[in-house]
Amino acid sequence: MKKLLYILIAVAALYTACGEEEEPINPNAGVPNAPGDSTTVGGSNDPDSGKTPADSTIAGGDDTPTETEEPSADARLEIYQKIYAASDIYIEGDFIIIKTNGRPDHKSPYYMETEWASELHEEYDGDNDKFRLNPNRIGEFNYTFKIPLNPQEATRHQATPMGAIGVAINGVPFYNQYAAPDEPLTNEINSFDQYNGHPTGNSNYHYHIEPLYLTESKGKDVLLGFLLDGFPVYGPTEDGKLVSDNDLDEYHGHTHTTSDYPDGIYHYHITSNDPYINGNGYFGTPGTFSQ
Ligand SMILES: [Zn+2]
Ligand SMILES: [Zn+2]
Repeated sequence: MKKLLYILIAVAALYTACGEEEEPINPNAGVPNAPGDSTTVGGSNDPDSGKTPADSTIAGGDDTPTETEEPSADARLEIYQKIYAASDIYIEGDFIIIKTNGRPDHKSPYYMETEWASELHEEYDGDNDKFRLNPNRIGEFNYTFKIPLNPQEATRHQATPMGAIGVAINGVPFYNQYAAPDEPLTNEINSFDQYNGHPTGNSNYHYHIEPLYLTESKGKDVLLGFLLDGFPVYGPTEDGKLVSDNDLDEYHGHTHTTSDYPDGIYHYHITSNDPYINGNGYFGTPGTFSQ
């Protein structure tokens, strides 16, 4: 009996030793050149952005016929190409990297006195009598949106932060439904230009609500962009009907097939009432945004 106990203790000790032994190996194991790396988990907390272009070929090469439920990386990439204003879109490990300059491709009063004014400045001609131009102007940036390639519902849903929560197909960031933490857009709305965007004090132009230039030029029921969790954002109508908040869950989306995702996908809809784009946080796990 005593002997058995000793054996158990010895076995337990052995397991602990193995566990500890793995610790020092792990941090050194993040060698990005190893061909298998792009398939390993933990890519989300891998701060290494210096991956070589070869990584995208590896990720693409992984789509052997074994994967049947998930669309291939190439198919995903093709949908992301709808972000027509992106200067670069590519796969890096388990993520899609989207680069944009964040400047709207439509006219705006906020182009006043900028280097693009002669081409893109236009006085306000929207229908909000309370419109007042804020003192900010539009600037240009090097935005990088890093978005999960295969978005999944998160086990713990994170609140959206202030600042960019996603990207519209014209490269302009989506912001959430607050002017400041827990402060509604009530007053901020009066500084939205005729296309429903405006710049921050740091010249970052953005949309909190329906990007009218896109819904007017592309359609009210089309894919308008993506949130940082990788789930697509659609316009305010669907099958010829206005989508109401009652059709959507607390994150402001629902799941069904769309023209871009014939197998169905969770997606957000932009509606005309608060919370507009996203409700109570991300449905999936967000990637990152940097500028
Ligand atoms: Zn704003
Ligand atoms: Zn829908």
